[in-house]
Amino acid sequence: MSDQEAHYYLDSQETRDQLRVELSALPPALYEGYKGIEDKVNAALSKRLDPLITDQGRALLHSNQTLFLQPADAKYIRSHWTNSEGREIDLYPGISLLGRQHYINYYMRTSRSNSPKAFEGCLVWRGRIPIVCIDVDYISSDGTEGPYPASPEWLISNAEYAERINSLQFGKYDLYTLYYVSKQIANTVMHEKIHGLQDPHLPSPVIEAAAYYLVDEIFRANDWGAQLTGTNMDLLSKQFGGLLRQEGDDLLRFIFGTYDSYPYPVINAIQTAFSPKIIDQLSKKGFFKSRWIEWRVETP
Ligand SMILES: [Zn+2]
Repeated sequence: MSDQEAHYYLDSQETRDQLRVELSALPPALYEGYKGIEDKVNAALSKRLDPLITDQGRALLHSNQTLFLQPADAKYIRSHWTNSEGREIDLYPGISLLGRQHYINYYMRTSRSNSPKAFEGCLVWRGRIPIVCIDVDYISSDGTEGPYPASPEWLISNAEYAERINSLQFGKYDLYTLYYVSKQIANTVMHEKIHGLQDPHLPSPVIEAAAYYLVDEIFRANDWGAQLTGTNMDLLSKQFGGLLRQEGDDLLRFIFGTYDSYPYPVINAIQTAFSPKIIDQLSKKGFFKSRWIEWRVETP
C-alpha cells in the first residue's frame, strides 16, 4: 500500500469506533440494525469473493467498517481528503492500468440525483472507509421522519415480504419503509465495500460497472431481489456481467488486484468491452434521459 493509499485506510477498529461514537448519525439502538445489515452484507460478500481478494480485503469484510454519517459530517471528512480546489484527490492522476491514452481522467456527470428519495441530498463516499450518508432531517412525503430503522431481518425475498405483509392488518406502511430502507442500506454498504476491495488504478466506469454488477449478482444469489437502478448504470452492469461470463473469475482477480501476473488476455477483453466508444454509447442510452449517468474523458 502506498502512503497516499494508507491515508484512506483506517485499519484500527479503535479509531473507527471512536469516529463512530463521535459522528454517527444514528442513535445506538438504531445503529444495531444497521450494523446487523453490514454483518449480513459481509457474510454474503465473503462467500462470493473471499478466494479472489487480498488479505486486507478480507479484513474489510470481517469487520464493521462502515460509518453512517450526516451529510455535513461526511462533507467535513471529505473536505480533509480533497485538494485546495475542493475536488476529490485523485489517488492515481492520469494513470490507468488499461492504457493511459484511453482512460485518462474519466469523470462522471449525472443530470440529476439518481439516489432514491430517502437519500436525496446525501453524498456517499467511495473509499476504503465506506461512508454512508444518512439525512436525519429528511421527512418523507407521508410525514414520517428519519433516520429510519433498518434490520437484517428484512433482507428477504419479495415473495417473503408479500407473505409477511399479507398476514398483517395494520402497520403495512411502516413495514414497507423498514423493508425498503433495509435493502437500500444493504445495497449501499455492499456497493461501497466492493469499491474498498477494488484496485483503484482501474478506470472509474469499469470500477462502477463491476460494483453495480456484483451487488445485483449477490442480491439475486441470496434471494434479496434484483438491484436495478433504473439508470443507464444497468447497461454498464450488464456489460460487465457479459464480460465476466466470458472471462470467468480471472476478471475479478484482476479487478481486485490479486492476479499473479499481468493478464494480457483479460486486459484486452476489458479494453474491448469497455472501449471509450462503448462507454460513450452506454452513457447516452437508457429509458429516462434525466437519469443518464455520463462519463466523459476530461481533457487536461
Ligand atoms: Zn460506486
